[in-house]
Amino acid sequence: MSFLFFDKLLSRLDKVDPARLQTHMARLRSEWKMQETILQSIQEGVMVFDGAGRLVSANAAAEKLLSFKTEQLRGKTMTAFFDDFDLEALAASGGKDDAKGGAWHRMASREIELTYPERRIVSVYAVPMHCDGAEPSVLVILRDVTAERAREASALEDERQGAVKQLAAGVAHEIGNPLNALNIHLQLLGREVRSVEDEDTRKSLSELVDVARNEVSRLDGIIRQFLEALRPSKPDLRPCDMVALVGETLGVMRVEIENRRIAVSVSAPGSPPEALADPGQMKQVFFNLVKNALEAMADGGRLDIGVSYDDSFIRIDFRDNGKGMPEEELGRIFEAYHTTKEHGTGLGLMIVQRIVRDHGGQIEVSSKEGEGACFRVRLPLARKRVRKIADNRE
Ligand code: ADP
Ligand code: MG
Repeated sequence: MSFLFFDKLLSRLDKVDPARLQTHMARLRSEWKMQETILQSIQEGVMVFDGAGRLVSANAAAEKLLSFKTEQLRGKTMTAFFDDFDLEALAASGGKDDAKGGAWHRMASREIELTYPERRIVSVYAVPMHCDGAEPSVLVILRDVTAERAREASALEDERQGAVKQLAAGVAHEIGNPLNALNIHLQLLGREVRSVEDEDTRKSLSELVDVARNEVSRLDGIIRQFLEALRPSKPDLRPCDMVALVGETLGVMRVEIENRRIAVSVSAPGSPPEALADPGQMKQVFFNLVKNALEAMADGGRLDIGVSYDDSFIRIDFRDNGKGMPEEELGRIFEAYHTTKEHGTGLGLMIVQRIVRDHGGQIEVSSKEGEGACFRVRLPLARKRVRKIADNRE
């Protein structure tokens, strides 16, 4: 039933006979019900506020996104939902740009971040409505763009990593070859030095050669890390005991842990189920995380490694009480080449992130400057613990 027809009906209401009016009303009602059903079943959240910014109605999607019940919050002002909404300007603008530069457009492009009940990015699109004779009101349309934004961010990251790869491949290639030659010649030199007769000269020469060989092997390590970062191999996934892998990694690092006087603890309540992982790559992840923790604790400290799990994931936490990081640093640590260390490569965490991501896992970090850092790795379990559907129902 069109509005035109409805208007005509209204203007002739006194002349329409009651039976026909009833038929029209019934049609109107079913039409209204259909619109209501459509409104309730679309994915976008729809909210209507009156001119004073009070909630008039909302559909199910809006209630779900913002986690509220219309019945409870009807009449609440818009600021209860969106902090700094300039509703009056919006309602007054009537869909046209106002002198202040167009509230309409400003609102139309807005995105807000919700943290409750879970982190979501919602695009908020507000349209002023001026119907003839009716109070001005505002229609707010909400769309969940979390997945879209995540896809964009990861595409951007991939692009950035592609550029890094090209550059680094060249560098690694150029440095790798002369480095090998240098190593071989230093070995030869070391042998020659051993046959020097004068003991003092022999000693000081062999010390010099040792320093040079150490530096060459350090450089070699850096190049190897580069190449690991560049040649991502697909993880060879199999069920793995994470506690055992952590133990093996710590075994390799025992000397450094002792030298730095770090107390390391591993706690794993119960016996955690196996995770689906590539054991070699996972050890590389743990190695990098432990190494960073050690390097953050210049003069002794604690590193607590905790293993826990839920129905689908295993979580391995590395918590140290080293120097931690300021907040602005946190966003950059996974970037290639980002390092705060004199001899750092800034590749460790990039490799860690890539491996964890290739495993379908997640890595999170939290830290407070001066107090320590905590890295959390989550990996899918080899066998998801299946709950009966009934358990998930209220
Ligand atoms: P690198 O160790 O070569 O610097 P990484 O990618 O491993 O490169 O780490 C990047 C940066 O992140 C480090 O330089 C450091 O500033 C910071 N970082 C990483 N782990 C920790 C930690 N456990 N405590 C404090 N800072 C850390
Ligand atoms: Mg590192």
